[in-house]
Amino acid sequence: TDFKGLGLSEWLCGVCKSLGMSQPTDVQRGCIPAILKGRDVIGLAQTGSGKTAAFALPILQALAKDPYGVFALVLTPTRELAVQISEQFRALGAGMRLKELVVIGGVDMQQQARELAKRPHVVVATPGRLAGLLDADAGLAAGMARCRFLVLDEADRVLDSTFEDDLRRILKALPAARQTLLFSATMTKSLIALQRQSLADAHVFQA
Ligand code: AMP
Repeated sequence: TDFKGLGLSEWLCGVCKSLGMSQPTDVQRGCIPAILKGRDVIGLAQTGSGKTAAFALPILQALAKDPYGVFALVLTPTRELAVQISEQFRALGAGMRLKELVVIGGVDMQQQARELAKRPHVVVATPGRLAGLLDADAGLAAGMARCRFLVLDEADRVLDSTFEDDLRRILKALPAARQTLLFSATMTKSLIALQRQSLADAHVFQA
């Protein structure tokens, strides 16, 4: 199957082609159709497998139909990963006036609060900084209330106890009616627990 066969629209297939992505990778084949159908997904895949596009492409397709922000929140454990993910969103969403924002520690918090208040379509964040911003400003938390997608990238690390409190504070701001997409290199105990607890119906892809 090509990208079109996975259910992606013509213009996104064109974007993939223009970026040199001639064929979908295994994780893209295994996850994109389920995400487009509205299912929660647990994808077990390494960095380098094309997992970022596996969630970014169907999110962009859904966003193109119904653009309001904040539409998707991606949580990732490190600043570097946050920047890399946002760069992929920017490249894949180049044709659609996508507004995306990276929310990470080490940069001016007031400036980030102002940017987040504009309700960008896609927010890529490390948990600590985002939780801090949402705590500080109820308006920012309210801006997340219609978020359609929550992505946990490197989910095993995001679910680590160091982020537990941040994650709990962030989840409070998100609606229950959303799609949750988890990507992790391996199935850890914390992932299995979360799957049992709240993602029992999730589509699971394992390479
Ligand atoms: P990731 O696993 O998301 O870190 O992606 C690793 C790299 O693979 C990124 O630089 C992507 O641009 C690239 N990539 C993703 N999907 C494809 C594809 N279908 N064909 C070729 N390269 C891809």
